[in-house]
Amino acid sequence: MTGATGLVGSAICKDAVKKYDVIPLVIRDCDLTNFQDTKAIFNYIKPDYVIHTAAIVGGIGSNINHPGKFFYDNTAINTNVLESARLVKVTKLISYMSTCIFPTNSPCPLNEKDMHNGPPHPSNAAYAHAKRMLDVQSKAYQSEYQCNFSTLIPTNIYGQNDNWDIENGHVLPSLIHKCFLAQKTNEPLNVWGSGKPLREFIHSSDIAKISVMALSEYEEIEPLIVSSGIEVSIKEVVYLIVDIMKFKGDIIFDTNKPDGQYRKPSDTTKFDIYFPQYKFMSLKDGLRNVIKWFLDNYPNVRGRSYKYMPKANNK
Ligand code: GDP
Repeated sequence: MTGATGLVGSAICKDAVKKYDVIPLVIRDCDLTNFQDTKAIFNYIKPDYVIHTAAIVGGIGSNINHPGKFFYDNTAINTNVLESARLVKVTKLISYMSTCIFPTNSPCPLNEKDMHNGPPHPSNAAYAHAKRMLDVQSKAYQSEYQCNFSTLIPTNIYGQNDNWDIENGHVLPSLIHKCFLAQKTNEPLNVWGSGKPLREFIHSSDIAKISVMALSEYEEIEPLIVSSGIEVSIKEVVYLIVDIMKFKGDIIFDTNKPDGQYRKPSDTTKFDIYFPQYKFMSLKDGLRNVIKWFLDNYPNVRGRSYKYMPKANNK
């Protein structure tokens, strides 16, 4: 399991240990951007299966500010991990793309077959191109070396162990964090953009369960979109968070900040064929779950702010 302490990796570890002997790999074990290090650790572990979640990720702010790092690190990590897995003859590997890889003008709903048919949205073009290469490499390796490498395409993932950084995080953790701080400091809640864009969200525990099932039940080399297919506007999400956190202050929609892609609705036809019985956690239940986790764990969360720190005896 690469990226074992991240949002997705940590959730998958919890589920995968019920069925597999999991070896979690974290950044201090190995620098996956370095091929010799990656090859050495794969040679040492000789895994039968690999779930590859390690990636440099971030929200729209981070993608706009760090396209070079997002491109280089993700391309290097993915190339090294898949090549090392090939060399030690891994039985199966699963890796992750994202619905942000689709072309800006892709027909809606987004279908797996259209992922390379045009440039991705400029706000995350470098990350999207790096991620698209997972599909290219997996297919090339199957064609030449008969590798069994599958790719999943989840929508916006959120959950416990997320990155709560206000500038660099994804929309849900950033908004929860900002709402918490606004409550403590009696300031307005600042939401980026118009609130009109639509997104589909998936709780990390859902992607975990589906990943473990996919390891034994998804044999295709073509990617699989993983989503409930339920779209929700950023504005609706804001009001859900505000309601759960009982925030009574003002809410500002800051249109000087980017909206990003307007919508990326997914075609779940293929997912429904493979996993017809699967029930996703509702966004409301998922938000209650992560907000409770955030409040229980603050300030010991990734990307915490120093704007407000609870006193030692006042958790
Ligand atoms: P995306 O889905 O790949 O675009 O990535 P994000 O998770 O960063 O979501 C971006 C969407 O949420 C855009 O429409 C933003 O305008 C909106 N948004 C609203 N407030 C925030 C915020 O505090 N942080 C982030 N990252 N996005 C926000």
